[in-house]
Amino acid sequence: MPDRPLLSRAAYDRAAHRRADETWLAAAWQRARVLAVSPKSATPAQIGPDGRVAVAFRDPAEVPATAPRRFLGLSDDVPYFAATVDRADDEDWLTLRELGPVIDDLSAGLLTSAIALEQWHQRHTHCPRCGAHTVQAEAGWTRRCPSDGTDHFPRTDPAVIMLIHDGADLTLLGRGQQWGQGRFSTLAGFVEPGESLEAAVAREVFEEVGIGVTDIRYVASQPWPFPASLMVGFIARLDGDPSIHLDTVEMAEAGWFTRAEVARAASWVDAGTEGGADVRLRAISPTLSISRFLVDSWLAREI
Ligand SMILES: [Zn+2]
Repeated sequence: MPDRPLLSRAAYDRAAHRRADETWLAAAWQRARVLAVSPKSATPAQIGPDGRVAVAFRDPAEVPATAPRRFLGLSDDVPYFAATVDRADDEDWLTLRELGPVIDDLSAGLLTSAIALEQWHQRHTHCPRCGAHTVQAEAGWTRRCPSDGTDHFPRTDPAVIMLIHDGADLTLLGRGQQWGQGRFSTLAGFVEPGESLEAAVAREVFEEVGIGVTDIRYVASQPWPFPASLMVGFIARLDGDPSIHLDTVEMAEAGWFTRAEVARAASWVDAGTEGGADVRLRAISPTLSISRFLVDSWLAREI
């Protein structure tokens, strides 16, 4: 398994001190590699020389002059930008969900930031104070209101996601109302204003399945720009009665599963198959999700 969640493999320097330096940015653009992104959160892809799927970076000259540009950072002194462009009919474009598991560390980090910025710009076009249309500033890392002069920054909404275990061989997984039969995941939920991450873990678990947890420990985090989440991963142990009292508004079902059952479902997901109707746990989350990172870490007894 990877040593960290797949979208947390940032391998470049954000060089944030350059974002307001228009002279430097203009020169950097001339020698940049550009990540084209579409409003549908996709990017051009190609088969690389090693036979693997790779992001197809563009030369600046291939990017329309009117396309919004965002400076992502530097790697080996090469500037990387994102630009919002429309997809040509003859190009292969893939989404971050499709590319995330297969592209290299540098591309994964750049694309995750590019998609997160793209989603934010699309959804935050107006000033939250006065309603005026805002404009991009700071190389894409700020939106500025020309009416009242306020600056607005990209949002990242924290959500907790937690592997709950019984201290022995069982973990608790749930199935959301929108998910297919047999498909389970770790529990998760957004952090509320004024709440700590640990308190959010305990609250979400109690709300969704009615059990208490203790020994809440941080494991890892992963950006999840669909559209603006930061998933903060925890492990926590059952405290008290393991009986499940389900919140049926959010959850279709939940249950305790053994390591063997979870490992079998993981192998089915990786093979692109699924257990039969006689099996309760047929699929867990794919490798791109931090849910799967938590599950795999628990199966390997690393957390
Ligand atoms: Zn304003």
